Amino acid sequence: MISVEQALDKILNYVDVLEDEQSPILDCLGQVLAEDVYSSINVPPLDNSAMDGYAVQSRDTRGASKQSPRFLRVIDTVSAGSIAGCEVEPGTAVRIMTGAPIPKGADSVVRFEDTDETQRQGSSTEIGILGEAEAGLNIRRAGEDITQGSIVLSQGAVLRPSEVGVLASLGRTTVRVIRRPTVAILTTGDELVDINQPLPAGKIYDSNTYSLAALIRRYGGIPKILGIALDSEDSVVARLRRGLDADMLITTGGVSAGDYDVVKDVLAKQGEIAFWTVRMKPGKPLAFGTIKGVSKAGIARNIPHLGLPGNPVSSMVTFELFVRPAILKMMGKKNLTKPTIEAIVENSVVNSDRRRIFARVLVEKRSGQYFARLTGPQGSGILTSMTLANGLVIIPEDKAGVVAGDVVQVMMLDWREE
Ligand code: AMP
Ligand code: MG
Repeated sequence: MISVEQALDKILNYVDVLEDEQSPILDCLGQVLAEDVYSSINVPPLDNSAMDGYAVQSRDTRGASKQSPRFLRVIDTVSAGSIAGCEVEPGTAVRIMTGAPIPKGADSVVRFEDTDETQRQGSSTEIGILGEAEAGLNIRRAGEDITQGSIVLSQGAVLRPSEVGVLASLGRTTVRVIRRPTVAILTTGDELVDINQPLPAGKIYDSNTYSLAALIRRYGGIPKILGIALDSEDSVVARLRRGLDADMLITTGGVSAGDYDVVKDVLAKQGEIAFWTVRMKPGKPLAFGTIKGVSKAGIARNIPHLGLPGNPVSSMVTFELFVRPAILKMMGKKNLTKPTIEAIVENSVVNSDRRRIFARVLVEKRSGQYFARLTGPQGSGILTSMTLANGLVIIPEDKAGVVAGDVVQVMMLDWREE
């Protein structure tokens, strides 16, 4: 048996960072930037007002107070998106809206609240300033967010909504990113029926295709669904063929020692394959290897293949541990691990055969401390236990178990709102 780390190391050795491509900014969420982004403009392009108020010469406000306002002549109004037609000269003011460029001659903006604006009826040609304004007050400087010519985002940055917004503020429609991997999924089993079919006696719906496709999407890949193969070599080979242009292939089922576990025979013929028993639970049987395929450009190459166990929980847990890091590596990401926290476990778990146990738990924070409670029966066919869980408590292989009250490590699958 090999350890989880050994298995992951071997898998990651077989996957490389993919090529980059030019892509519309909104399609790039979660992808890694493959260029340094410089700004060809100042953001904001011009000095502009941070408030609704009056653009003035600060000198004119000296000595102003509520008791003794300074009165200025209002010569224009300027709103966001337009340029004032006249210049602010001593004794004058321009009514200005947030975001509007500062008119020539003005060096500060007095907000409405510090004027007698509300006491005036209708539009007035005069405004009373009720306090002193320093030069620069309520002015956002040109380039204060982004200076023309500066580097704004660096190669390697992961694009989040804020980065997408910054790209838009530069007027960029597309950007170079490392492309998303296509991951083909093949499920196997005579008992499986696709979800758009009636369910005959003795059959079950194929859930793995959908849970795994959702995981692939969640972590940034593009799922390619190859459908359900029967437990026969011909059926597996026929379906497999349609996935040979993918960046990675995952199969579920057919890798244990059962009579109908043909996936391993097919894969042994189609490429190179290793069967591992990984010291973990769930998910002991795992197949890994490469399959001869062709790239989208028609070039022969080996596609990494991961044969996950068929049990619905095992396939999801092994995906999180082995497929997710491979997808992230292909996307050019550096941090490949899920966040792990310390929590107090609220149930006892026995580790009878000294494998690393990943038990489904619901983690909650109470009085500043994390607690982890088992979600109920832990059978690897009980997929609803995954819907109740937000983490996997890790019981190390060298421990006989944990008892309620022990401090444990929990790999977080999701952060729920606390
Ligand atoms: P296997 O690894 O093929 O022996 O399958 C182990 C268990 O998982 C069996 O009970 C299968 O019926 C079940 N199983 C396998 N593939 C799927 C699937 N795609 N969806 C739901 N259950 C599955
Ligand atoms: Mg099977």
